[in-house]
Amino acid sequence: MPSQFKQLDPPQRVLLGPGPSEVPARVLQAMASPTVGHLDPSYLAIMDETREMLREVFQTKNELTLAISGTGSAGMEACVVNLIEPSDEMIVCVNGVFGTRMRDVAQRYGATVHSIEADWGTTISVEQVAAALEAHPKTKVLGIVHAETSTGAHQPLEEISRLVQKAGALLLVDAVTSLGGMEVRVDDWQIDAIYSGTQKCLSCPPGLSPVSFSPRAVAAMEARQTPVTSWYLDLSMLRNYWGSDRVYHHTAPINMTYALRESLAIILEEGLENRIARHLRNHLILRAGLEAMGLKWVPEHSLTTLNAVHVPDGADDARVRSRLLGEYGIEIGAGLGPFKGRAWRVGLMGHSSSRRNVMLLLAALESILCDEGVAISQGAAISAASKQCC
Ligand SMILES: *Cc1c(COP(=O)(O)O)cnc(C)c1O
Repeated sequence: MPSQFKQLDPPQRVLLGPGPSEVPARVLQAMASPTVGHLDPSYLAIMDETREMLREVFQTKNELTLAISGTGSAGMEACVVNLIEPSDEMIVCVNGVFGTRMRDVAQRYGATVHSIEADWGTTISVEQVAAALEAHPKTKVLGIVHAETSTGAHQPLEEISRLVQKAGALLLVDAVTSLGGMEVRVDDWQIDAIYSGTQKCLSCPPGLSPVSFSPRAVAAMEARQTPVTSWYLDLSMLRNYWGSDRVYHHTAPINMTYALRESLAIILEEGLENRIARHLRNHLILRAGLEAMGLKWVPEHSLTTLNAVHVPDGADDARVRSRLLGEYGIEIGAGLGPFKGRAWRVGLMGHSSSRRNVMLLLAALESILCDEGVAISQGAAISAASKQCC
C-alpha cells in the first residue's frame, strides 16, 4: 500500500544565519550509524573520546568537561543552576539578547542579580566590571557573553577574568558563537564555567551543549548547601554517568554524540589555529565586499563568526531576506530587539565559513539590492572582495 505521507524532503540551503550552520556530510553520516545502548562499552568509549576532543577544542585540562543533552540554552541553564544557590549574588553583563537571557535564567533560579549594562553593539568595559565587583563584594559568579550573536560584538575576556579572579568570584562565559571559530582559551583565560552549542561554529546539528568547569567551579558545586534546583541538569549526577561510575541518569542522545564526535574530529584535523584563521579570512573578505557596497557594520569590535550590518536605506529588510532564500537558497538572520528590521546578521560559522559562500552571498545580495532600486555601488563588492582574497 502506498504511504499516505510524502517523502521527507527538506531543501538544501546555504546557511549564513546566526545558526545552524552547514553540517558536513560526514557528520550527518555519523548520525545514521547504528544506535547502541547508552551503557554499551562501544558507546562509553565514544563518550570518553568525545570528552577528550572537547578538552582540546576548549583548550583546557578540566576534568569536568562534557556535553549537556540539549541546545546551547540548556548549557546556559546548567552552568547557572549548578553554580548558584538561591539568594547567591551574581553579576550578569547585558549588552544583547543572550546577556538578557542569562540574567533571566539566574533570576529564575533565585540568584540576587546585579546587571552591568552596555548599549547593544558595544562591549562591556573593564572599568564597569571593576566597579560592579567593588560594589558587590559578595558576588559568587560573574556571567558574560563572549560572542553576542544578537549584535555581532566580540567581548574581550582576559582582563575581566583577572578582575573576577582577584575578587574571588567565578567567571561564567557564553561561548556559543565563538567555540570552534574564534580563540577560546579556557585555561589560559581562567574561565571557570563555559558553555557552547553544537550548531554554530562546531557545524553539527543542534542538540548538544558542550560545557567545561574549572576545579574552582567544581569545588563551589561540592560546597553547596542545597541540592541543584534542576534535576535534569544536576551535574553531581551527570558526572557519575560521564565519569568512571557510569551510573544511569538519563538516556544519552546516542546518535547526537556520534555527530558531535565527528564534528570535533573534523575540527581537530583542520587544526584549531587554521580554523580560526579561516574564519578571520572569510570575515575580512565579506567585510571588504559589503563595505564596498556601502553597508555599515553594527559593532565596533566585530566577531568573525557573526557579521551584523545595518540594513541600507531604502531596502525592505524582510523582502530582501525572503528573496535571498527563495531565489538563491541563502539564509541570513534578521535583527533582534532594537535592531529588528534594522540589521542583517550574516553568520560565517564552521563549515559555512567559506570563500565560496561569501562570494555567492555578495553577488546575490548585490543583484537583489540593485533590482529593488536600493542605491548601492554596483560591481564594487566582488571587486573589493577579490582584492581581499589575494
Ligand atoms: C544561539 C545562542 C544561544 C542559545 O543556543 P540555542 O542552541 O539556541 O539554545 C546562547 N547564547 C548565544 C550567544 C547564542 O548565539
